[in-house]
Amino acid sequence: MFKKLKRYWYNLTHPKICDVWELHRVTPENLFDEGWRPYVISPNYLEYKINDALQKGFRFVSVEELYAMLNGECYRLLPQKNIVITFDDGYLDNFEYAYPILKKYNIPFCIFVAADFMLTGVQKSSNGDIAMMDANVLSLLAKDELCTIGGHTISHLKLAKLPDEQQKYEIYESLRILEKVVKNPIEYFAYPYGSYDNVTLSIINQINIKMSFAAWGGSARKDCNLLCVPRVIISSQK
Ligand SMILES: [Zn+2]
Repeated sequence: MFKKLKRYWYNLTHPKICDVWELHRVTPENLFDEGWRPYVISPNYLEYKINDALQKGFRFVSVEELYAMLNGECYRLLPQKNIVITFDDGYLDNFEYAYPILKKYNIPFCIFVAADFMLTGVQKSSNGDIAMMDANVLSLLAKDELCTIGGHTISHLKLAKLPDEQQKYEIYESLRILEKVVKNPIEYFAYPYGSYDNVTLSIINQINIKMSFAAWGGSARKDCNLLCVPRVIISSQK
């Protein structure tokens, strides 16, 4: 009961600023590997979710706009119905199936790329290799102003389970690799599996990262911690 009251009071004093959608794969229904649920949605479902949000009066904003809103003093003047679309890992299907839809609606988006997936062009899974965006596709996508590329470590491991030095390497080196491809500073980051600890936060705090994202937690609210901005997983699983 006390917890509920505390939550209620927190929500009241920290109004919603934005929902940050967290997506992974976007693949036509006939190519679905059931083992991937809930981390795969169909292009049709993505388009449905976009239309549904637009009809409800939401607007789609970029991570840069979210950063400005979370830093701003003028929350009351801002529309509270904002959505940022983010994709994790860097699947090739994001480029093939999600990108044309986002282009059609002129919606900005951010992709958090794990550097090893990009360098090898595949993600190994028990059901075979999954195609990932390589450096060529990524540099092409990065030229579109709708797209922001963010960091997601090199090896896609749980950061909180790694020794301090390795955490540092995974974060620093991944940004260096991506910056070479994107030819711009990487200013946003997402923790693989939402895993981070105090060491992670202090590393992120010391570098040129404006916002870093958690893997869950609901809406981003006023005064939320920019080092672990909450997100909402978008899943076609009912
Ligand atoms: Zn990931």
